[in-house]
Amino acid sequence: MAGDSAGVQLVSWQNWSGSVRCPDARIERPADQAALADIVAGHPGPGALRAYGSGHSFVPFWAADDTLIDLGNLTGLESVSGKVARIAAGTPLHAIGPLLAAEGLALANMGDIDRQTLAGAVATGTHGTGRRLGSLSAQVVAVELVDGRGTLRRLDQADDVAAARVALGLLGVMTAIELAVVPSYGLHEHNHLEGVEACLEQLELRLGRHRHHEFWWVPRVDRCIAKTLDAIDVPAQPRLEEVPFGEEGERFGASWQIFPSTRDLKFNEMEYAVPVATAPECFRAVRNRMLRDFPKLMWPVEYRVLAGDDGWLSPTVGGEVATLSIHQAADVDPRPLFDAIEPILRDHGGRPHWGKQHSLDGAALATLYPKFQDFCRYRRQLDPEGRFLTPYLAERFA
Ligand SMILES: Cc1cc2nc3c(=O)[nH]c(=O)nc-3n(C[C@H](O)[C@H](O)[C@H](O)COP(=O)(O)OP(=O)(O)OC[C@H]3O[C@@H](n4cnc5c(N)ncnc54)[C@H](O)[C@@H]3O)c2cc1C
Repeated sequence: MAGDSAGVQLVSWQNWSGSVRCPDARIERPADQAALADIVAGHPGPGALRAYGSGHSFVPFWAADDTLIDLGNLTGLESVSGKVARIAAGTPLHAIGPLLAAEGLALANMGDIDRQTLAGAVATGTHGTGRRLGSLSAQVVAVELVDGRGTLRRLDQADDVAAARVALGLLGVMTAIELAVVPSYGLHEHNHLEGVEACLEQLELRLGRHRHHEFWWVPRVDRCIAKTLDAIDVPAQPRLEEVPFGEEGERFGASWQIFPSTRDLKFNEMEYAVPVATAPECFRAVRNRMLRDFPKLMWPVEYRVLAGDDGWLSPTVGGEVATLSIHQAADVDPRPLFDAIEPILRDHGGRPHWGKQHSLDGAALATLYPKFQDFCRYRRQLDPEGRFLTPYLAERFA
């Protein structure tokens, strides 16, 4: 890393999996909202300015020589009003649990890990599981951002929030996010191994009975790992040791301690959200194809169910979905696997996860979202010069 002027550094940046590299990036780390607004307003544009969180997305949101904005100075719990918490956008998810717990509060839901930033997770619709629980984006009640002109805006009206729930950083750089939160709760996690048919037979029952249920299916052994999480009081003496992946066991603790798992092995991922009614059939088709063509794969297919929301670009817009996630080791070309499975997910009415790999262009994406054109119009209003339209996004949202 080399400095080229005060506060600006040239750096070779890459995402978590190594699938995206920016060898000549400039990093800006604004001290506050005002400094951020100056950076945006002074940027020549178009299309070379983009925030990053923890780089846990798998797609090239960022181009090789972009100016990248690091919101590491905008972190922390800013205020709590009733059951709404205002959190600085650059706050890592793992910091939010303890901050809310000190107020007797918690996030209603979280995904598999807690290494992402709040803004990055919200920008892509990051989610966990829960038939009556939505993604992190679904919990957003207001957003504050610096738009493409460098103007600070608060979005808190219904349509604005629906546009901002999942916006890929196209409306501006978020500086604070207000989330609906819930009283602190604990979680009891159970993991057990079973055959595929037994797992599918139990699916509906478990989805109804447990606060959270998901399963992983591992092609190489053609068996499932079923996981359930149930709400309990926050235990005075938690048992936090993670159940190793592929083993049976349990643990319990505060919700924010139990939701996340450790992911040490690097991978790339494709995920589609399919309507919940067709999802078991979709899973069976994916399984058949993988047993035929990728029978030795150790990387699992993850199957999760979650509630819908009103986000214009939420893969969950319009109702409950099941998400099917396909993984491949980071040092293996994922295309043969993803190319084989993606048509099956599309044929079942799937919408891709915005932060994960897929092959859809703007025309294909537009058919999946009734409000796609409204979103594009709104984007043009907030960023008329297209400062945040890096090439990957310009192909899809120009
Ligand atoms: C190991 C692993 C586990 C994962 N588990 C899950 C999971 O359980 N569920 C799930 O749904 N996804 C999961 N993901 C995907 C991940 O949650 C998303 O890709 C998420 O966007 C990453 O957050 P981040 O902070 O790393 O953001 P980044 O990947 O750095 O950025 C994502 C997007 O947000 C934009 N952005 C960042 N900060 C801001 C800001 N302040 N204002 C506006 N836009 C901004 C960026 O420009 C970019 O477009 C996982 C990924 C990995 C690698």
